[in-house]
Amino acid sequence: MRASAYPLIDADEAAALVLDHTLVLGVERVVLADSVGRVLAEDLIAESPLPAFPSSAVDGYAVRAADGGKTLRVLGESAAGRPFEGTVAPGTAARILTGGVVPDGADSVVMVEQVSVSGEGAEVIVPASLVAGQNYHKVGDDVRAGDRILQAGAQLGPAEIGIAAATGHARVLARKRPRIALMSTGDELVEVGAAAKRGQIPDSNRWALLAALREAGAEVRVLGIAPDEAESLRRFVGDALGEADALVTSGGVSVGTHDLVKPLLESLGTVHVGRVKLKPGKPFTFATLEGGRLAFGLPGFPVSSLVTFEVFVRPALRKMQGFAKLHRPILPVRLGYDARPTADRTEYQRVTLRREGRDLVAESTGSQSSSRLLSLAGAHALVKVPAGDRVLKSGTVVDAMILGLP
Ligand code: AMP
Ligand code: MG
Repeated sequence: MRASAYPLIDADEAAALVLDHTLVLGVERVVLADSVGRVLAEDLIAESPLPAFPSSAVDGYAVRAADGGKTLRVLGESAAGRPFEGTVAPGTAARILTGGVVPDGADSVVMVEQVSVSGEGAEVIVPASLVAGQNYHKVGDDVRAGDRILQAGAQLGPAEIGIAAATGHARVLARKRPRIALMSTGDELVEVGAAAKRGQIPDSNRWALLAALREAGAEVRVLGIAPDEAESLRRFVGDALGEADALVTSGGVSVGTHDLVKPLLESLGTVHVGRVKLKPGKPFTFATLEGGRLAFGLPGFPVSSLVTFEVFVRPALRKMQGFAKLHRPILPVRLGYDARPTADRTEYQRVTLRREGRDLVAESTGSQSSSRLLSLAGAHALVKVPAGDRVLKSGTVVDAMILGLP
């Protein structure tokens, strides 16, 4: 082992440094099927109103409100997509189904439950008091022509995509997704499912990070396992960088002699962060490469790689995609256990949360070893335990980065 040449940087400072070097990606026009989760890069304007025609909200009869209490002759039917093209004159009605066009002349729709039909459907008796405008949607009730229905910067979820489709936008201008090259390093790694000889382990970080990257909106190219050998590693990375906006590696960033990622990144660009005051995740490394590309060297321990992903990589990916909100919500939670801090590093402890009245109470997920991925499985939050030497007693209120509320 040798001492690291890199200064230990405060975790929040390192996170800010990463974001300072992260640029927002460009835009592209995408079909709606490819738009989910993306950030809209244009204002969407409705060219026509919604509904575009007066549309019945119920099954019933289109009538004139002035004809209340009368027996009306039924002229025909207006079904969804099959309008009745005649005019509802005084003393007449048209059968209408939900979504059908309210015919000219009619100003009210009576629900089918409120009429009595006679003459085998040829006539209906309608209630005495009818109100004009009832039971149908007027043109532009939901959206007026020219309305800005979505603003640039909105995230496209199911409702936004639905409204885009409803207003005739088959494609939308959206921020690009980050293209990420993902690489695992380590001579001990084998493909998941392959027989592991003594001393070998499955490359589990690849799958954990692939999931985390995709969940954060990235398109990932998996490069596979690079050996702990400087030249092969260089070739791997050289091949990889082609189209990628960023490189994400796991392993090979601590100070052991087989840890080759830092020197490699140094030779390819500028290392801005080489060590952080963070537990787990002290060896986290961040560099910029030619062409404004980013490189994240995540530590190999499974928990360390995912925690540093949360703290450093995810916000950067969100910035690239144009999100206004880069960070997970931070909420105050009450400790349900005594939290032992680390002397010189901020610690993110994995917890589950439960509700007690208006409070959220955090319970440890058990051993917080950085190899024990189970400490993160099912965790609702990362509790931020500031560096220090005083135990934070159960009941203390601390900040927690919320991964998902119970
Ligand atoms: P390193 O950061 O390369 O020193 O690795 C630290 C620890 O994490 C070692 O016990 C490695 O075996 C383990 N490790 C590294 N890469 C992976 C990986 N891709 N999947 C699972 N464990 C890993
Ligand atoms: Mg290694």
